[in-house]
Parts: sequence; C-alpha cells; structure tokens
Amino acid sequence: MDLRFEHQCSQCGALIRLFETERLLQCRFCGVKSYLSSEAPFHFVLPHQAPPDRELLYVPYLRFRGNVFSCQGNRTDFRFTDITQLGIPFEGLPASLGFRTQALTLKLLDPATPGTFLRPTLKLTDLLNKVSQLGAQSSQLPVYHRAHIGETTSLVFLPLYRQEDQLFDAVINEPALSLRRDQEINPDLATPLDGWRLNVLATVCPVCGWQLEGDKDSVAMVCRNCERVWETSSGRFALTDHVVVPDIGGEKTHLPFWKITATATGVPIKTFADFIRATHQPRVPLPEWEELPMSFWCPAFKIRPKIFLQLLRTATLAQPSYRQSERFRQKPLFPVTLPSSEAVQTLKVTLADLSLKKKDIFPLLPKVRFNVVKTTLVYLAFRDTGHELIQPCSQIVINKNSLDFGRKL
Ligand SMILES: [Zn+2]
Ligand SMILES: [Zn+2]
Repeated sequence: MDLRFEHQCSQCGALIRLFETERLLQCRFCGVKSYLSSEAPFHFVLPHQAPPDRELLYVPYLRFRGNVFSCQGNRTDFRFTDITQLGIPFEGLPASLGFRTQALTLKLLDPATPGTFLRPTLKLTDLLNKVSQLGAQSSQLPVYHRAHIGETTSLVFLPLYRQEDQLFDAVINEPALSLRRDQEINPDLATPLDGWRLNVLATVCPVCGWQLEGDKDSVAMVCRNCERVWETSSGRFALTDHVVVPDIGGEKTHLPFWKITATATGVPIKTFADFIRATHQPRVPLPEWEELPMSFWCPAFKIRPKIFLQLLRTATLAQPSYRQSERFRQKPLFPVTLPSSEAVQTLKVTLADLSLKKKDIFPLLPKVRFNVVKTTLVYLAFRDTGHELIQPCSQIVINKNSLDFGRKL
C-alpha cells in the first residue's frame, strides 16, 4: 500500500508531495532541494476535519513495508510484507488503518501540534514476529535466521476526539466507538514526542558547497565536484567511501553495490578461500584467494527479493576486482536506494544462501558473528543490451524492468 505525504518547501512554502520512502524534496516552484532525515522512524499524522474546539487524541499505528528473509528448514525464503497495525491495546479501535493511508495525503508530525499523543506499546519486533507466523511457510521447521532488509518503518497517528460518550474518528468525523460514561482513556500512554525530530538538510556538499545530486528515493547523495558520496547519519551528511570502477569500453551506466569486507566467527571465515570451502563451492580455491580478504557484495538499490538474492550470490562469488577508482565526470549513476546499514544485514543471508550443504551450515547460523572491517560503495559499469544490463567482468546480469520495479518497493 502506497503512503503519500506532503511537506512544505522551506523556501517558498509550496506543498510538495512525496511517497513514504522518498527523502529528497525538490520544489517545483522555486527549485530549492532539501533532504529529510530522522534517526527515529518517520512520524506521520492523518489529516483531520474535527470541529475547531475539539481536543484531539492521537492513536499510533506501526507500519512496516519491506522484505523479510528467513533461513528455515534447509532453504532461504523471502516475503514482501506491508502491514499497518494498531500500536496500543485499545479495544474497539480498528486493528489496521485499512485503505485510509492510501486514499489520504499524510503530513509529517510537527512536534508543536496540540493534542494528546499516545505512545505505542507494541514493539516492531513483536509486530514482525506476528507477521512471520502468519506466513504460508510457517511450518514446523526450525527458523535459524531471519532478516528484514531494505524496509521502511513508520508511525502513523490517527486523530480522534471525544464527544460525550463517544469517540469520534476525526478523519471522517464519524463515531468510532462508544465509551462508558466514566471511562477514561489511559493517560499513562500519553507522552511528549521527544523521540521524533525531523532534520531538513540543505543538499549542498559539506566539503565544497556544490549541489549534491540524487533522486527522490536516494539514500546517498553524490558530489560530482569534489568526488564524494554522502549518506545520512544522526541527522547529518556522513562521508561514505566509494570507488568508481573504470569501464573497459561500451558500458552505459554505473550501478552501485556495497562491498562489505568482514570476518566471521561461528563459521570461521577470513579470506575468500575460507568462504569457498565453508560453503562447499564446487571449485578449488585459487592460491591468491588465500590472501584475499572476504568481501560480501550487496546491491545498493532496492529490487524484488528473488533478484536481490540472486545478485547477492553472483556478486559475492564474482568478487569484482579493481585497481583504482575513476572520477565520476558525467557518467550516468543509478541512485543508491539501499543504505549501508541495511546492506550489513545481508551477510548471514548470503552465507546461508550460498551454502551448498545447508544441513551443516544452517544450525550454526544463530552463533555466527561478523566483524565488518570496511564498507565501500562500488560503482560497477554495465553494458546495455536493450533488455538487460551486463557487467562484463563479473557476469552480473540485471533485467532493466526489474530495476524500475524495485524503485516502487
Ligand atoms: Zn519552494
Ligand atoms: Zn563536494
């Protein structure tokens, strides 16, 4: 379900509409660009049409949209999940927001909004456990590992108000439920919203002041002037190591991948040769692989889970190599839509999925620990065949339609 929200341009005040996953605000009137960032999940409010004198009560709904990967029995499964669930025990209120979030344009919560905001007691992990149990594959087979990768989590507040012995839904101005005459709404749940603060960042390079480049759904911004890439961390732009792999001729576009160099314990892995042996790949490690530190490769863009898994496998087994980085110049760069913090959660999934003897490796998964040594954003050059993009050195192939589709996830 697509959720849309609107936010005011800080320069001219125009309202700009964005989808839930979009963070780059570009004003079509004055051209100003800004980047929305927050450490906590974004807090949204549904628009209300309550009579002006009413005191509003805001009830929280937790929202999760993303892919859940699970290593269960002897296979890796995945499921796209989109769920919105009432975040407090409140009998009589709808358990979910239904189609409302789709039909209405939400607003980001302004902490100065008058009214009582209730604090969610439902934890995201509880919500996700519940989701997993609903799955069709919720068989008796043991689950050795579960990961949520590339998800968007949000909090959506539904406004209500009391009129005599009824609680009205302020979105549609209709009674939502009857209260007993003396019934109080649990005030323990009311809380100042100190966890939520929106940071609006100017999209200029913190080092050279040049305009940063990105798409609406980008989670990393590029400075073509001083050749730097920025993610956000704690509400500000943070420098990310990157490499642009020189093309060998004929490549049209550059796609970003996270290269995560890491060691593992539980299943001991330090080098690529260790990884080949641990996962029982049907090939003998080359002598130089004994010296090659193990790097896990992960697409730095969202794509449907089946293809995402395929890319984890192909790119990790290919271990694309490069000598030096090139300059961006005017190369077309595909936007980074999967942050590095999500990419590091793929390591166990990659290890599990590439293991040919799953019976041996899966029971060890709960004890496997990774130590990330270095994370680098690597732009690989792809040739365009019309339908597919092909990376000539590593043989990574991506269907172009699936790239477009992935941006809607
Ligand atoms: Zn504007
Ligand atoms: Zn710069």
